[in-house]
Amino acid sequence: MKDLGDWKGIWVFVEQEEGCPAEVSFELLAAARQLSLKRGGVEVVALLLGNGVRGLGQDLLRYGADRVLCADDPSLEKYLTLPYTRVISRLILENNPEIFLLPATSVGADLAARVAIRVNTGLSAHCTSLDINPGGDLLQVVPAFGGKVMATILCPKHRPQMATIRPGVYRRGEPQEGRGKVEEVPVHIQPEDLRQKAVETHWEKKPAQTIEDAEVVVAGGAGIGNGEDWKWVEKLAEKLQAAVGGTRPPLDEGWISEEQMIGQSGKTIRPKLYIGVGISGVIQHLVGIQDAGTIIAINQDPKAGIFQSADLGAVADFRKILPLLVEELGRK
Ligand SMILES: Cc1cc2nc3c(=O)[nH]c(=O)nc-3n(C[C@H](O)[C@H](O)[C@H](O)COP(=O)(O)OP(=O)(O)OC[C@H]3O[C@@H](n4cnc5c(N)ncnc54)[C@H](O)[C@@H]3O)c2cc1C
Repeated sequence: MKDLGDWKGIWVFVEQEEGCPAEVSFELLAAARQLSLKRGGVEVVALLLGNGVRGLGQDLLRYGADRVLCADDPSLEKYLTLPYTRVISRLILENNPEIFLLPATSVGADLAARVAIRVNTGLSAHCTSLDINPGGDLLQVVPAFGGKVMATILCPKHRPQMATIRPGVYRRGEPQEGRGKVEEVPVHIQPEDLRQKAVETHWEKKPAQTIEDAEVVVAGGAGIGNGEDWKWVEKLAEKLQAAVGGTRPPLDEGWISEEQMIGQSGKTIRPKLYIGVGISGVIQHLVGIQDAGTIIAINQDPKAGIFQSADLGAVADFRKILPLLVEELGRK
């Protein structure tokens, strides 16, 4: 039986696709470094799985890992639940990390749940912030009860403390040279792990500008009312060279894609300027814009919650204001 004190170090799962690590992997390394400082400088380890991915190790060391554990094998070419779970669970049980962080992406969510069960620990999903308490436990903050409260979760009796963290919550750290080493680890896949096969891969077209990278974001909400009027949101964005985002209802209506939804179960964004049109401003949306620079809200209801978070507000029907704005910007 292991003691809690036997578990040391912070591990980060590196999500990569075709040899290209997802930005969130670097963000989690930055989070791990911050937590490591509060844990007296414990080791930060990046867990890299794939086929022909060893070369990615140097970048992971540069951006926060003290050590990279690399499982490089043809059976790990594409993400599949069973082989990835097998390799990672084994490594955890052999090495005893105290904290294991994964991205709150579809891959991270799928993998984290399986691994947590295999290693007999808990899991906090979709965290919006992390910290360490005076006792050294990981504090995992998650919006709960439909976002009405922010719950802080602890896992005091089990290790590792596992959490998935939303992309965009942390920022990639400054690169630092001369840190750590890349170690290859054995891959013990069992025949039953190979029941799954990736049959085909489809790539979604990415917009020219993603809402996470954009300096200006124009976001629309349910108040836009219909697909025909949604074009005003897009026209305003075009004039401002902004990216288009939205709340949950526009996603449900098919006006935006999943990549464009902002908030608790969507993207966290940090534009210099955010313009919210026909958006009420419930917490599930607001958590995604808490680090935005200037927030401008357009809503016809003066009591709309978004005005509490806005730097500038217009109490108006967007149908009157947006055409004027688009026309005015067209003159410039
Ligand atoms: C677990 C969970 C996770 C969720 N995750 C997310 C998430 O990640 N992101 C997200 O956005 N939502 C999320 N939601 C949904 C969220 O709770 C809200 O339902 C949603 O954000 C509301 O979107 P809205 O502000 O566009 O719509 P509404 O709340 O319906 O607001 C519409 C606003 O438009 C205004 N309006 C109407 N007509 C006009 C007009 N002509 N001109 C100007 N203003 C007008 C109204 O006054 C109103 O304030 C989640 C919910 C749950 C339970």
